[in-house]
Amino acid sequence: MGWERSPGGLVSAMQPVIEERGALWVGWDGGTGAARIPAFDTLSLSPVRLNRTDVDHYYHGFCNSTLWPLYHDAIHPPQFHRDWWRPYRDVNARFARAIVRRAGRRATVWVHDYHLQLVPQIVRLTRPDLRIGFFLHIPFPAEELFAWLPWRAALLRGLLGADVCAFQTEASAANFSRVARRYTAAEGTDRELEAEGRRVRCIAAPISVDADQFEALARSDSVQRRAAEIRRQLGGRRVLLSVDRLDYTKGIPTRLRAFEELLRKGRVSAQRVVHVQVAVPSREEAVGYDEVRREVEQTVGRINGSFSEPGLTPVHYFRRSLPKEELAAYYVAADVMVVTPLRDGMNLVAKEYVACRVNHTGVLVLSEFAGAARELRRAVQVNPRDVDAFCGVLLQALSMDGREAKMRMAVLRTQVRRHDVFYWARTFLHTLEE
Ligand code: UDP
Repeated sequence: MGWERSPGGLVSAMQPVIEERGALWVGWDGGTGAARIPAFDTLSLSPVRLNRTDVDHYYHGFCNSTLWPLYHDAIHPPQFHRDWWRPYRDVNARFARAIVRRAGRRATVWVHDYHLQLVPQIVRLTRPDLRIGFFLHIPFPAEELFAWLPWRAALLRGLLGADVCAFQTEASAANFSRVARRYTAAEGTDRELEAEGRRVRCIAAPISVDADQFEALARSDSVQRRAAEIRRQLGGRRVLLSVDRLDYTKGIPTRLRAFEELLRKGRVSAQRVVHVQVAVPSREEAVGYDEVRREVEQTVGRINGSFSEPGLTPVHYFRRSLPKEELAAYYVAADVMVVTPLRDGMNLVAKEYVACRVNHTGVLVLSEFAGAARELRRAVQVNPRDVDAFCGVLLQALSMDGREAKMRMAVLRTQVRRHDVFYWARTFLHTLEE
């Protein structure tokens, strides 16, 4: 089998940073066998092996059926299984060993995401010379939810092994700091803790995109040509676009139902408007993913069954991943980008759309519950669970006056271009190396 880039925001964000600065990337290769890692010009990869049981209990189990839903407001009920905790600890210890073996003296170690929350402490115990930073790509939940976790104190002690714990938003940083004081001996403020005689900084460092790269793609002849072709193929209609992993946090059924209601009430028609939903298959073995896929597919079927006209399908549903150039062409082709997760750590798709709107046209509809909403203030923001408000903002976006749209997009573009992924990495590493 060949090699594929893993979908989602983490790899999108880290690849350009590592290519720019140079680093060794310790990670799971995605399989269960002995993998041969190919040589890449710009990346050094050091694989950590997982066996079939690790994948089931650690990855699909504790990571994606306990932590993922719990940290996303329990949108899907988190599962608590004793059998999954030990594999989580074991795999974390294995990653920590791989780091300890490979890291040079006084090196900087940057640990990523909810899969590895015990790593900072384990690494620190054997290698106090290392600088250790941790970044959580997903939200850190409120105390009321975090408290459910039977292993909450152990997880917090794991994280407190870092010198800097960074989060997507101030709210997440404060949530973490509060529960650390509640469930461990750590003391301090929302921004700084003292734990076992060491200082631990808690910061917000919102992740971002390689804005220049998307902008260059969007300006390229091939992407411009492809975007024009997509618009023609979609019948010259107004294009609403959504791009998500097929995940219950992304609110895809909720979004489709808002569009359905507009069709039903005759506020939009298949002759004038088309909704393109790209849904990238993801984590199909974790709890809850089958359900959301079925619900999305039923809803798409119902909408298209009721409202299609010859040659005019109201919802185009692609259950597959698009390569970057093709994705950029869709961003360029879309009049309105609809990014409405029920909860999301950041959401890079929203920022990629903004980066691609080089002529300042296009409208971004953004959920209040995406981390990106804190920065992208001039997006048309909505509570996606409020169907009436949702229908209202879709109509507002479709009929927005060109001058207002340009003014909003200009502000959004300034934000995304100033705070790109390199700015994020610099901010984080600067705090860590201070
Ligand atoms: N993506 C992609 N091809 C697709 C759909 C998405 O390469 O067909 C990428 C997209 O460019 C973005 C990432 O997947 O960088 C999704 O990141 P986001 O933060 O929006 O969500 P996550 O998947 O991390 O929850």
